[in-house]
Amino acid sequence: MQKIAVVTGANRGIGFEISRQLAHLGMKIILTARDEKKGREAARRLQNEGLDVVFYLLDVTKEESIGRLVEWLEQTFTRVDILVNNAGIDIDRGYTALQSDISKIKETMETNVYGPLRLCKALVPIMRKSNFGRIVNVSSESGSLNGMTTGHPGYRISKTALNVVTKLLGNELLGTNITVNSMHPGRVRTDMNPNGQRSVKEGADTAVWLATESTATGKFFSDRKEYDW
Ligand code: NAP
Repeated sequence: MQKIAVVTGANRGIGFEISRQLAHLGMKIILTARDEKKGREAARRLQNEGLDVVFYLLDVTKEESIGRLVEWLEQTFTRVDILVNNAGIDIDRGYTALQSDISKIKETMETNVYGPLRLCKALVPIMRKSNFGRIVNVSSESGSLNGMTTGHPGYRISKTALNVVTKLLGNELLGTNITVNSMHPGRVRTDMNPNGQRSVKEGADTAVWLATESTATGKFFSDRKEYDW
């Protein structure tokens, strides 16, 4: 049976490449983006490669937007197999925690933490019906407590919190066939990180592996190996 994968923030960068790689494995991709024009264009690029990709408008910070997606998924498909929480923002580079702008931290939390949690809450009930699910939270080394340094406090706090979401849901879903993991893609050359050394192809690899091959749950990975929380 063809698997169905929902990817957030998939109009560019790592999310676009994760969509491409999953589609190349034969899945139907629900490529979501908050900007209709950019999302449709990204979906068209993959369709032109002969891939099975449909666009759906999704702003992960908007409860109503998530509600519309879930209603459409339930009406259109009998299952959802994969959720990749990739959408993310990094808007307080150059700040220290002592100089931090709390409004930027709140905005970052909405996108990087509450969005993924809302989507998990909405999609796990669908996954439970088929007793299958692979949830991948695109986190970062910036959220690793053991590797914590300084800088972009909102981003770091959000990625640590996202890892807590992974741990909690991993524990809550133990004994089911629904796995939840965090991954760090490495430093990838995208709009978010123009100086990154890695290609998006390399950056997407561990997320795709977690979505398709690994049976681990409640863990943090990079380069297909466990990464220090
Ligand atoms: P990117 O090129 O900036 O892409 C971010 C994506 O998230 C864009 O498609 C953006 O949409 C989308 N997005 C932002 N807010 C959204 C919202 N409210 N609703 C829906 N989509 C939203 O960054 P990237 O490097 O590919 O990053 C992807 C993920 O990898 C992020 O979670 C990031 O934290 C993580 N990561 C990246 C690196 C790296 O080195 N690049 C390292 C570690 C972790 P718009 O185009 O509309 O803005």
